[in-house]
Amino acid sequence: MKVIDHIEKAGNNALFSFEIVPPPRGRNVQDLTDIVKGLEPYNPSWIDVTAHPAGAYYNENPDGTIERKIFKKRPGTIGICGIIQNRFKIDTVAHLLTQGFTREETEDALIELNYLGIHNVLALRGDGLNYNKKVSANRSVNTYAIDLVNQIQDIKEGRFLDEISNARPLDFCMGVAGYPEKHFEAPNMKFDLQWLKKKVEAGADYVVTQMFFDTSKYINFVKQCREEGINVPIVPGLKVLKNMKQLTTIPRNFYIDFPDELVDEVTANPKHIEEIGVRWAIRQSEELLNFGVPSLHFYVMNDTESVKEVVKKFY
Ligand code: FAD
Repeated sequence: MKVIDHIEKAGNNALFSFEIVPPPRGRNVQDLTDIVKGLEPYNPSWIDVTAHPAGAYYNENPDGTIERKIFKKRPGTIGICGIIQNRFKIDTVAHLLTQGFTREETEDALIELNYLGIHNVLALRGDGLNYNKKVSANRSVNTYAIDLVNQIQDIKEGRFLDEISNARPLDFCMGVAGYPEKHFEAPNMKFDLQWLKKKVEAGADYVVTQMFFDTSKYINFVKQCREEGINVPIVPGLKVLKNMKQLTTIPRNFYIDFPDELVDEVTANPKHIEEIGVRWAIRQSEELLNFGVPSLHFYVMNDTESVKEVVKKFY
């Protein structure tokens, strides 16, 4: 079932969805199936599986020379979606990126997803990892997420990169990302919202937000989107604060602020940060449900325990 159909069918009932990250290369897919088993009792409407492009890093050899090495961080988005959907019968959303993938690879990925019965995708740009794949003359690339949205929409209408005989349109529900605290590269909110609107006009069915810890920022974002004429469902993304390190790593990686009240509380009681994080996320969930959100989307990032603590309050 498509995300958009889940939302429509639920009406005023709260839906819960989760986002998980494929295990690092070399680890077993069992790690992931254990995570899904842990989430299964909470009846997720869908599970997103993130995508990761290749990256580059510099390695200093014992002789002092420096070598540039390429790594593929976390493979397996499509395969993992296939396992979850076919083994656990939970709908999945495969993340697709422009960065690190050619348009030809994207088309193949969509054909494969369709073959596996996966009809939900989240179209994203990605953040690059200091590495650009060499693209030969007969390959093409998407740059921004809107380029990917356009390509997916083409395929939904049966337009493939090459003339394929008997090509049939492939059916996908398409989500895109939105930023209650603005995307870090956008010069201002107005600019960012204009591109978000273009992604929706190009075919996106819904928006999922970046994580936020101040609910009023989400509410204000929804208001601004509606004023801009963005009328699709806007699913709030939530993260449960787990440890003191995240007080600096989350703002650094996701370009968001923590509210003063939360920072004051955890810095005064660092030993109780897990309990405070869970309490804060429950409070945010209640505020969002009262506001009337279509669904609560939790960034699990493979930390199921604290997310389960939050979600079980609502079962
Ligand atoms: P875009 O929509 O392309 O926007 C990027 C920036 O460019 C914005 O500032 C926008 O205002 C501007 N812009 C957009 N279009 C244009 C244009 N045509 N011309 C000029 N400016 C433009 N990253 C991963 O690597 N893997 C994941 O699985 C993943 N999942 C995510 C899930 C969610 C819900 C969210 C919110 C983010 C996720 N990300 C993921 C991170 C995401 O890739 C980054 O935030 C990235 O920097 C932007 O992606 P986007 O799709 O929003 O980009």
